[in-house]
Amino acid sequence: MNIVLMGCPGAGKGTQSAKLQQKFDLQHISTGEVLRKEIASGSELGKQIAGIINNGNLVPDEMIASMLENKVKNTEKGIIFDGFPRTVAQARVLDEMMKRLGRDLTHVVMIDLPEGEVINRICSRRQCKKCGAILHVDIKAPLANCPVCEGELYTRADDTPQSAKHRLEVYHRDTLPVKNYYLNSGKYVEVKGDQTPEQVFEDIVKVLEKVK
Ligand code: AMP
Repeated sequence: MNIVLMGCPGAGKGTQSAKLQQKFDLQHISTGEVLRKEIASGSELGKQIAGIINNGNLVPDEMIASMLENKVKNTEKGIIFDGFPRTVAQARVLDEMMKRLGRDLTHVVMIDLPEGEVINRICSRRQCKKCGAILHVDIKAPLANCPVCEGELYTRADDTPQSAKHRLEVYHRDTLPVKNYYLNSGKYVEVKGDQTPEQVFEDIVKVLEKVK
């Protein structure tokens, strides 16, 4: 099983990827996480990347493509691509790469979230530094610690209202066309994103079984 998980910013791709990884023993490849690790390393490349991400723009396709191939080569497991492809050019690169590596995409799952929910979701998102859990807090009374492991919670640098708004515009311009790219592939399915994470997960598992 090799899955592309699509959805606008804040749709719940990270949360659902973690659940899928656990249930099906998949390799989770999140391009956003890879980029954030590069930023955290303090490298020159990381500084360039931070400038792009924190303004809500996309990192150039070539940079993403070269990062990704090693990750795919290094695993025998099925893969969840989280946050990739984000452009039609990236979707083509993924097709070529999978073919070259003798693998095949099996599912493209779109988590469909109504626009009105997006900015609130992004601005209330926190992640745990220790266990990586993603949660949504009451903005008027935000939590400081993770309810799962007590680790310190942080807000992603790109989860500001201004950046979130721009990311949504970029999503419409560059990423939604990827949906059309996959629409008639026989692999494309949609689930409703405005449900509890458990309900969304249940729906994803159902559609994964439908497309074989
Ligand atoms: P995410 O963690 O998926 O929300 O990604 C956070 C940010 O990383 C995005 O807003 C982009 O700036 C950048 N990013 C992640 N994945 C990609 C990608 N496939 N192509 C270009 N930029 C990306």
